[in-house]
Amino acid sequence: MGMLRLWQAALALCLTMQLLPQAAHAADDVAAYKKAVEARFEAWLQGLWPEAEAAGVSRKTFDTQLKGMKLDWSLPQLVPPDPAGPDGPPLPAALKPKPRHQAEFDIPEKYFSSRSLNALANGGRSRYKQLAPTLSAIQKQYGVPASIIVAIWGRETGFGAAALPYDALTAIATQAFMGRRPEEFRPQLIGALKIIQSGHATRAEMKSSWAGAMGHTQFLPGDFENYAVDFDGDGRRDIWSSIPDALASAGNSLHSQGWDGNQPWAYEVDLPKGFDCTLQGPDLARPIHEWVKLGVARVRGRPFPEARLNDQAFLVLPAGMKGPAFLATNNFSVLKLYNNSDVYAIFVGHVADMIAYNAPVDFVGTWQPVEPFARDRIQRFQEVLVAQGHDVGKVDGLVGFKTRQTIGKEEKRFGLPLTCYPTHALVDRVLKEAKN
Ligand code: CA
Repeated sequence: MGMLRLWQAALALCLTMQLLPQAAHAADDVAAYKKAVEARFEAWLQGLWPEAEAAGVSRKTFDTQLKGMKLDWSLPQLVPPDPAGPDGPPLPAALKPKPRHQAEFDIPEKYFSSRSLNALANGGRSRYKQLAPTLSAIQKQYGVPASIIVAIWGRETGFGAAALPYDALTAIATQAFMGRRPEEFRPQLIGALKIIQSGHATRAEMKSSWAGAMGHTQFLPGDFENYAVDFDGDGRRDIWSSIPDALASAGNSLHSQGWDGNQPWAYEVDLPKGFDCTLQGPDLARPIHEWVKLGVARVRGRPFPEARLNDQAFLVLPAGMKGPAFLATNNFSVLKLYNNSDVYAIFVGHVADMIAYNAPVDFVGTWQPVEPFARDRIQRFQEVLVAQGHDVGKVDGLVGFKTRQTIGKEEKRFGLPLTCYPTHALVDRVLKEAKN
């Protein structure tokens, strides 16, 4: 060994001796912190008893299911308490939530790739044939097209193929204790206990996603309580392993929330040149015949059905003027109750059309490239717009109807071409103006 190597080895040894105790120390910190939080969690679980009892959960179910439950620290997007308790240890660095500023929302162009549309439509068509008798019975009973139900099934869990490895009760309890939206999950935990108590699923069968969504069609316990049905007649509402139960439950959910079997989910439309994109959104619904007067036409030269001209419809421009345009019915809003996203509703509706009518994979309008944005930046932009008196809907870093409308208004004010979709140039301009 030459001198240099020896020197390096000595240095490495020094470093190791310095680092090792620190690493061990950090691990101790994590263990002590988790122990304190688990103790607090146990007390918190016990504190749920009055609510559970009032909801009809028996003491036996409560004790059996919650006794010894540990938090699932592996779930993403947790917000662990800091400190662990009033006198508890602080949150160790290793457990700090990762900053969200890098998160981007889906760019429509990517979301609607022909590949993913085709994959889901092909899978859907084969299920549509295999399950024809069940699906037509469900369609008849709930008035929701089987193609829509199959498309949701595909989108939610890849027709039941998606791995749902989490114990639903633990995932939901963890979310209720230290997730991003604890108040939404607390009643879901009571609901989960009731499902087990009533024997619809055993604890072992009751698996979910990390966010507590269960079974083929991704119901939370509240959805289960409201909408799950026993369609195969075995006495259990089993959305985990009975496909008829799961799909009928999805049909019942859409039906109960106002699906109208006489209307499509939406029509893709062409807008006349220079159309005012601020006219979008459910608040600005009007009868289809009025849209026709404004020059809105169905794509491929097809007329709107004569019988539907008095239906209320609203304009949906998920990418502003940089993508396809749709006239949506209330069914579109019902789809959004499943997942509150315009692109989700369009994706599911379009795949359903591909399944039912062999509709072409491509939209007539083109999803043009748009500038990617971090959610934090959009959220800051929304905060500034709200401070200026605009209505942007939820300040959530997502570009929903009201944010798109407001962008259009700002574009008008600056004399820019109307797009109703954010660009960095526009956001910079609004943020800069606010600073002055
Ligand atoms: Ca059943």
